[in-house]
Amino acid sequence: MAFDQHGRAIDYLRLSVTDRCNLRCLYCMPEEGVSPKPHDSILTLEEITRFVQVAAEEGFKRIRLTGGEPLVRLGIEELVANLHAIDGIESIAMTTNGILLPKMAHKLKAAGLSRVNISLDTLSPEQFRYITRWGNIEEVFRGIDAALETGFKPVKVNAVVVRSLNQDLLAFARMSINRPLHVRFIEYMPVGDLLGSEGMGWTKEDTIPNEELIALINEQAKACGLGALEAISKRSETPDGWGPARYYHFKGAQGTVGFISALSRHFCGECNRLRLTVDGELLPCLFSDTSFGVKSALRQKDTGEVRRILHEALESKPDAHHYKVGTEHYMSQIGG
Ligand code: SAM
Ligand code: SF4
Repeated sequence: MAFDQHGRAIDYLRLSVTDRCNLRCLYCMPEEGVSPKPHDSILTLEEITRFVQVAAEEGFKRIRLTGGEPLVRLGIEELVANLHAIDGIESIAMTTNGILLPKMAHKLKAAGLSRVNISLDTLSPEQFRYITRWGNIEEVFRGIDAALETGFKPVKVNAVVVRSLNQDLLAFARMSINRPLHVRFIEYMPVGDLLGSEGMGWTKEDTIPNEELIALINEQAKACGLGALEAISKRSETPDGWGPARYYHFKGAQGTVGFISALSRHFCGECNRLRLTVDGELLPCLFSDTSFGVKSALRQKDTGEVRRILHEALESKPDAHHYKVGTEHYMSQIGG
């Protein structure tokens, strides 16, 4: 088991497998996309696999594939299969916008992907088009259906909540009632430099603290006779996350409603993760501006050096993000 200098066990690796995407969410990517990286600057599937082999030997057990949009990375099914075959890797998950799932879900499941988080910030087709700049919400709905039909477990829907977007929170929460869907509300995090003059101007004030969110949903739920959300205290009744969500459910619902607050109630004390970007930089924290390059060591097949850099990155994990806002990376480059 790998530990950082603050005594936290770190066994969860988030791999950003591409910084490209088939959408352009306002808070994540500039409209023109990120400037395409030269082909040889990004890790090959084989290099990613080799890194995970070393990480597994150091005690990492759980992998999340993210991006950019992980499903646009050529050979993603093969990557899942290769990671699944590594001794010590217990579970492989993916965070996706869901659009390509109807085409790819079965192959991914067969390759060893078991858990899927689908990002969807609104249930309004117009607002979805606005947030993603061109997306068609029906494609995401079909992606959610495909994920459930294929039997991924759990299937989570992640919604980033932004005060000025005025999203229909109750409609989201209700998605958890009739199907085993786990809806999670995520506090908007002001990162990247999209917040400057060319950004949408969302600031820290646009982050709705979880307590306020729960109160808002309960007020609306009661008004339509649903009853309030009940907190789930037993971990065995939650969708077995590796992260810091607090879970609730409506009485009798098949799924749950979770809340993740990176800012208002940060969970740094429970942090169990390390991130690897597609160009081979290890990021000790989502908010890190310091990173540790493993690409050359991987290219030279210098396993000892890869291991050394992995530990160097672990040693540099900060105790907390200290409410730092803004990073030098776009979210699409870090992987959320
Ligand atoms: N393309 C995939 C997707 O959208 O699920 C994976 C990559 S995306 C960067 C991962 C997650 O980060 C998404 O759920 C997205 O909503 C979230 N995200 C992006 N920018 C964010 C921000 N500024 N604050 C909070 N979450 C953000
Ligand atoms: Fe693409 Fe995901 Fe970023 Fe949206 S949040 S632009 S879907 S990477």
